[in-house]
Amino acid sequence: MGIARPGKIVGIGRNYREHAAELGHLVPQQPLLFLKPPTAVIGDGDTIVLPLESERVEYEAEIAVVIGRRVRRVSEAQALAAVAGITCLNDVTARDLQRSEEQWTRAKGFDTFCPVGPRVAPLDPARLSELEVRCRVNGVERQRGSARDMVFGIAALVAFVSQAMTLEPGDLIATGTPAGVGPLVAGDVVEVEIPNVGVLRNPVSTEPRRPATAR
Ligand code: ZN
Repeated sequence: MGIARPGKIVGIGRNYREHAAELGHLVPQQPLLFLKPPTAVIGDGDTIVLPLESERVEYEAEIAVVIGRRVRRVSEAQALAAVAGITCLNDVTARDLQRSEEQWTRAKGFDTFCPVGPRVAPLDPARLSELEVRCRVNGVERQRGSARDMVFGIAALVAFVSQAMTLEPGDLIATGTPAGVGPLVAGDVVEVEIPNVGVLRNPVSTEPRRPATAR
């Protein structure tokens, strides 16, 4: 734990050239936004549950920006002052549903599809480009990305999102995933690591055949 449930989670699609290419896309001309619901959030150690509706659920290791101050239409120059810090985020995605549906809401919105944590680390504006994110599945490295390879950097993303919507303390911006995405199956343990920030580790299981309708 350690991360409060955010008011909103803004995702950024195709923000690393090589990842856009591996899914068969060009990088967008401006940041491509989507939302994940707050109900998808789980913490470090919690279980990612593979839903019955998907046959292909994938990990996406990402650097998440945690907003610290309420802002609207902030400039890129002022954007980092609104950031409380960064943390690890796994933008878990039902890839089959993402491909078959025009909107990504369902593919990225299932319960447990947004592991976040284990802590928020302060952001050093002078060392932004040194940030790295890695993903391991069962101890084997699958992704390794650097913030310097982002199409749109962290300040640009915060500024861009805030032109559309007020950002509030606790809101998260998931800054996109590098190349190397792949499937998760029951029994896997997936880790997202940002060096000097922490390791977010989550086991994976299947949904029971008769899921509860209320909790
Ligand atoms: Zn993503």
